[in-house]
Amino acid sequence: MHDDRTLVESRLKRVLDERIRPAVYAESVPLEVGIWTAPGEPVPVAEGLAAPRTPIAVGDAWGAPWGTSWLTVSGTVPEAWAGRTVEALIDLGFDANMPGFQCEGLVYRPDGTPVKGLNPQNQWVRIAAPAAGGERVLLHVEAASNPVILDYHPFLPTELGDRETAGDEPQYRLARTDLAVFDETVWQLVMDLEVLGELMAELPVESARRWDVLRAVERALDTVDLQDVGGTAAAAREQLAGVLASPAAPSAHRISAVGHAHIDSAWLWPLRETVRKVARTTANMTALLEDEPDFVYAMSQAQQYAWIKEHRPEVYARVKKAVAEGRFVPAGGMWVESDTNMPGSEAMARQFVHGKRFFLEEFGVENREAWLPDTFGFTGGLPQIIRNAGSTWLLTQKISWSQVNKFPHHTFLWEGIDGTRIFTHFPPVDTYNCAMKGSEIAHAARNFKDKGVARHSIAPTGWGDGGGGTTREMVAKASRLRDLEGSATVRWERPAEFFEKAQAEYPNPPVWVGELYLELHRATLTSQARTKQGNRRSENLLREAELWCATAALRCGAAYPYEELDRIWKTVLLHQFHDILPGSSIAWVHREAERTYGAVAEELERLIGRAQRALAGDPAGGRELVFNAAPHARSAVPAGGAAAVAAAGGCSVTERPGGGFLLGNGLLDVAVDGDGLVVSVVDRASGRETVAPGTRANLLQLHPDFPNMWDAWDVDRFYRNTVTDLTAADEVTVAAASEEAVTVRVARSFGSSTVLQLLTLRAGAGRLDIDTEVDWHETEKFLKAAFPLDVHTERYAAETQFGHLYRPTHTNTSWEAAKFEACNHRFVHLDEPGWGVALVTASTYGHDVTRAVRDGDGGTTTTVRFSLLRAPRFPDPRTDQGVHRFRHALVPGASIADAVREGYLISLPERRVAGTAEAVRPLVAVGHDALVVSAVKLADDRSGDLVVRVYEANGGRARGRLSTSFPLAGAVPCDLLERPWDGTRGEVAVAGDGVELSLRPFELVTLRITPGGEAG
Ligand SMILES: [Zn+2]
Repeated sequence: MHDDRTLVESRLKRVLDERIRPAVYAESVPLEVGIWTAPGEPVPVAEGLAAPRTPIAVGDAWGAPWGTSWLTVSGTVPEAWAGRTVEALIDLGFDANMPGFQCEGLVYRPDGTPVKGLNPQNQWVRIAAPAAGGERVLLHVEAASNPVILDYHPFLPTELGDRETAGDEPQYRLARTDLAVFDETVWQLVMDLEVLGELMAELPVESARRWDVLRAVERALDTVDLQDVGGTAAAAREQLAGVLASPAAPSAHRISAVGHAHIDSAWLWPLRETVRKVARTTANMTALLEDEPDFVYAMSQAQQYAWIKEHRPEVYARVKKAVAEGRFVPAGGMWVESDTNMPGSEAMARQFVHGKRFFLEEFGVENREAWLPDTFGFTGGLPQIIRNAGSTWLLTQKISWSQVNKFPHHTFLWEGIDGTRIFTHFPPVDTYNCAMKGSEIAHAARNFKDKGVARHSIAPTGWGDGGGGTTREMVAKASRLRDLEGSATVRWERPAEFFEKAQAEYPNPPVWVGELYLELHRATLTSQARTKQGNRRSENLLREAELWCATAALRCGAAYPYEELDRIWKTVLLHQFHDILPGSSIAWVHREAERTYGAVAEELERLIGRAQRALAGDPAGGRELVFNAAPHARSAVPAGGAAAVAAAGGCSVTERPGGGFLLGNGLLDVAVDGDGLVVSVVDRASGRETVAPGTRANLLQLHPDFPNMWDAWDVDRFYRNTVTDLTAADEVTVAAASEEAVTVRVARSFGSSTVLQLLTLRAGAGRLDIDTEVDWHETEKFLKAAFPLDVHTERYAAETQFGHLYRPTHTNTSWEAAKFEACNHRFVHLDEPGWGVALVTASTYGHDVTRAVRDGDGGTTTTVRFSLLRAPRFPDPRTDQGVHRFRHALVPGASIADAVREGYLISLPERRVAGTAEAVRPLVAVGHDALVVSAVKLADDRSGDLVVRVYEANGGRARGRLSTSFPLAGAVPCDLLERPWDGTRGEVAVAGDGVELSLRPFELVTLRITPGGEAG
């Protein structure tokens, strides 16, 4: 037979595009449209409905950047359409090639009831089926003219990302406002032809199935009368019925589709717009659930539910109803889909506490999956946190974005630093915006790495970020793919249904140990430094506030600020969203975040001050108390307590021969040269030099940094090819010299920027503190602080949540080479047997570690560099401009335990409070250095119980007693939600006024402690 395959395929494309699709709405009449533009920010619905309209016509421009316009469309259903299905078609000026990321609308009835969203791929509003002739149509649309930030030429700097700089040029032109007859038979024919055409394209040309489909398509096209598509569509569909009825192979891959819309809680739009984005998409989805009985929709992020509850109660009522029916699924159980690299231990835990609790309280739902499709890498600490929150599964898709190495599994057990294993799935469809295209379904089946032992994968299906979620077209396609020869099968299923099946068919999947490092977006550890510092500061202040407020509550009967802390935690958790904390949002988001973090700090300082005042007594009492919120003793002050401290001494500073200064405190001898660089740090206890021979530490290095894509997100490996060492100093002087502390001040200038550093040795402290203030006015540069250390090691430790993980210092394989920028929390530590060095930080997350072998002595120089600042220009054209302050310290002779302790001490500085009290006894004390208290708080259920979270921090085993300074009625191990839990594998036994703990490496235990009487 002659091969006419391409001829038929081309015919299908043209006839679909030019004849059949247009025939879905063959008849239409224009609607009348009026518009009112709100003068500033969005207005309440009633105000928008009531505002006077002026006429606007199709083709007219509307919508300044970030503006809100209220449109009213009105008309009459023609008499001739009686009995037909009638829809309004409203095209606000959409670019259908971009499913989201542009203007959007929410349709209201005249009484203010929301109907559904209007999105680029979802422009219809059902008026009536069947319609009555002469029926009046009146609808209102709240239209948001959000500008396109990520355009066809991506990553160009733009001023559109902040209302303050965006100008008022209209962004859109009204494209269509019609009343039309919806021909469902033609629409079904379109769905048939799309599914078969897309399937055909994925089948081998040699396969009989491909030709069966091709011939059926040809017969259907022969049957359609192009002058009467509506009249012949049913007959054409009959030609396709046979190939559509042919069932899938028994070995076909099985896809669990779940309706989804990945809505970033802020990104290329401000937080306030997400509130409306979520309402529009959710209105679409509750409507679709009513129309499509098989469809299931999953939405994550408790915060987004809370927004709908507060701002669109009518939509929320529909959500509650659909959740109760089990078809609208609260997914994931986190407050937001947060970053997981940077949030601290407690914050990562609270993401689950607040997310799960919201779902439990609002819906009575507790799910078992963590849902993080888009997060930029996953720490080794996360599995234990997921498990302690009562979950057992994880879904993410993001690791498929890795630039170099392809992850070997789609379904596997992920083992964290403590040994907790979580059943994890990466959807092989490689997207969280699946549209049920044949190419996607075929890719999922082909790409799935666990073929032969497993058959199931999941496909989150729907447009996110203002695309409106799942469309009725996706549902129609899924129904055709349910059991179709040549395709994977598709069923709408809840995430839990998928995980149960996947786990049952694959009881012993392969294991991946350690972090899930994303080989992309590495610069998100550094971009928008003020947002990151706001997060750090807030986490530390929350720890202090909970500790001192709980102490004041038990000691003095002070009221515990439950509501304030709950609200502040949720604010801080929201800002850990995976485009806010990573610094990848528009200028507006980061400008607001800085202000919000300022308000959070102010409120927490007030709570801390009030609690410490209650504990310290009358400020005229003549005593000074030092409060220590760190989990380790500081000078004579116990962890979590307060005491008077006598001034320590022993610091000295002298001029160094050849320039610079020599600093000493009896523990360290530090030499700073005439350039203000650290040439020697000797640890007196061991006599060991810390700085590698021939090198200088605390060296600031400046690199050009213009990645190929994703400016705020990415740093590409080639940035290291060019470097400028900032060695020239404007000033190197002694800034302070006393018995208690000595400080050398170093000032430098470079480019358009200046930097001021204070190098301080304090009495009794085995670390060199480095305070850095940069007035940063560079563009597309990367600033690092380098510490070349005389340490020979193949690996180093970096702190993560509830422990640390190791990474290699070499680049033997592509996996290691790809980790050229990584995350630390409070410390990086490296050692040789018996002697190590820690670098601790209260400010930064990004770092790199490299090794070199010296020509002279053959020794190894291991260089640790903290990443201080970048200056990308997209999406915020002025990222990181201005003044920044950082605090780091070098700790020679440090063990892992020292690194843990110094990291906490630098992050939680002492507070001096005047009062009458001699001391404040800690509520709890732990009798082992490795058992670290990460939180002391009152139980969220307001029972008055004390909640104490403890973890083994050194990576070993630790047995110790947690004793309380108040009578103890009982103590039980709990999960993160403070519910009694027997999942703790360590030993926890109440004995007398304490609890005996025996913990595995990095094991986390939450204790709920019931006080037995008056606190002493
Ligand atoms: Zn995202």
